[in-house]
Amino acid sequence: MEYIVVDFEWNQSPYGKGTGNKRLPFEIIEIGAIKLDENRQYVESFSEIIRPRVYKKLHHMTRELTGITQEELDGGEQFSHVLVDFMLWCGDDFMFCTWGNTDLIELQRNMKYYHLDDLLPGPLKYYNVQKLFRILHDPMERRSCALETAVDYFGFEKNDSFHRAVNDAEYTAKIFAAMDMERLQRLYSVDYYQNPQTKADEIHLDYDNYSKYISREFDTKEEAMADKEVRTTRCYVCGRAAVKKVHWFLGRNKCYYCLAYCKTHGLIRGKIRFKKTDDDRIFVVKTIRLISEEEAALIREMKKEVVDKRREKRHKGSAPEPGDE
Ligand SMILES: [Zn+2]
Repeated sequence: MEYIVVDFEWNQSPYGKGTGNKRLPFEIIEIGAIKLDENRQYVESFSEIIRPRVYKKLHHMTRELTGITQEELDGGEQFSHVLVDFMLWCGDDFMFCTWGNTDLIELQRNMKYYHLDDLLPGPLKYYNVQKLFRILHDPMERRSCALETAVDYFGFEKNDSFHRAVNDAEYTAKIFAAMDMERLQRLYSVDYYQNPQTKADEIHLDYDNYSKYISREFDTKEEAMADKEVRTTRCYVCGRAAVKKVHWFLGRNKCYYCLAYCKTHGLIRGKIRFKKTDDDRIFVVKTIRLISEEEAALIREMKKEVVDKRREKRHKGSAPEPGDE
């Protein structure tokens, strides 16, 4: 298997917020990539400018950030041609690596816009090198970190300017190649812009200290919360069903929470986030994590808050909501 370390530059509506095309808020104008072999040795690079069709005028921020000129853009190739050449260049057996988690979303959104989404069936398993750097090398564990910070950390020379796709891809490739493969192997990410459609496609990921489940689509949140696979709280260490101490309830940040207990491994927190598809359907991202007594107390506290609020509402004489107890 080869690694395709990829980076995109994109343009947006130059006329400000709300003036863009909702189906394509960010239009890819440059693809840069480095191919690494299975030992993470450099094989070759790919670099192309794309002539935009939606936002033909360069946004001043894009121009300042990347240094790409309007002349370069006007001389670029059309997206569909570059994209097909790029996918051919990637080959049949590869895994993407990116700096951050936005590049692959925008790639797939651009592909969908041009009806090219069949070329890249998802969900995509990939390495988010920024996340790897944060976990393996950044003692501050910041939520986000600039590419240049990691380049400085490893002491690489900075001969090429940042924010040009192929340069950023090359810096990212060097960082990826300098990391401990054994440690990073289990830290892959899954991009679910193309979310699972059927039960057989649902994703179950086990990491060292938590597990993640991405469901198929449902029409409503209620329908999702009534699903057996969604509700289950299997302990991700031993695989046995953990007994619920606090059943799923709607807590803070529009997430559902629950508290469960595995006889061997202790307290477990379940958390469910809902994701909306482009067609307004719903799917679920559930994480299961071992937690401490203190963290469990926070869940119980949150549950109490919810019950108190409901009681207060009822006390004021408002009609009970459908589905309320
Ligand atoms: Zn267990």
